[in-house]
Amino acid sequence: MKAYDILLSHQVKPSLQRIAIMEYLLEHRTHPSAEEVYLALSETMPTLSKTTVYNTLRLFADHGAALMLTIDDRNVNFDADTSQHAHFLCKKCNKIYDFHTQIGLNKMKELRMEGHQVEEAHTYYKGICKDCLEIEKTN
Ligand SMILES: [Zn+2]
Ligand SMILES: [Zn+2]
Repeated sequence: MKAYDILLSHQVKPSLQRIAIMEYLLEHRTHPSAEEVYLALSETMPTLSKTTVYNTLRLFADHGAALMLTIDDRNVNFDADTSQHAHFLCKKCNKIYDFHTQIGLNKMKELRMEGHQVEEAHTYYKGICKDCLEIEKTN
């Protein structure tokens, strides 16, 4: 699905800026922060402001067109992959990895948490990624 269709299907009016921001998210599955998206797009879109990028990403998240991650306390990160998945933050290099596991949410749905209806689960893991472990080994 292209950026335009994703925005439409989530009731987000697809302006040129919004399409560009969604396209960037789709092409960069590294969970970029608003800052990163702004820096990358401001070269070709000089009228774009940091606030607009942040507000647009928040809008995507509110409409379910993107995920907003609060795994890193210094940054809010965004993800075009809205399927249920867990995230792993490397404390050394700050890279965020995807863990495609359904365990968390399905378990919660079954338990029906004291009568509450659970619809989302945000699972964050932190540690040292395999690349950083490899570097540690060779040093
Ligand atoms: Zn790492
Ligand atoms: Zn992700």
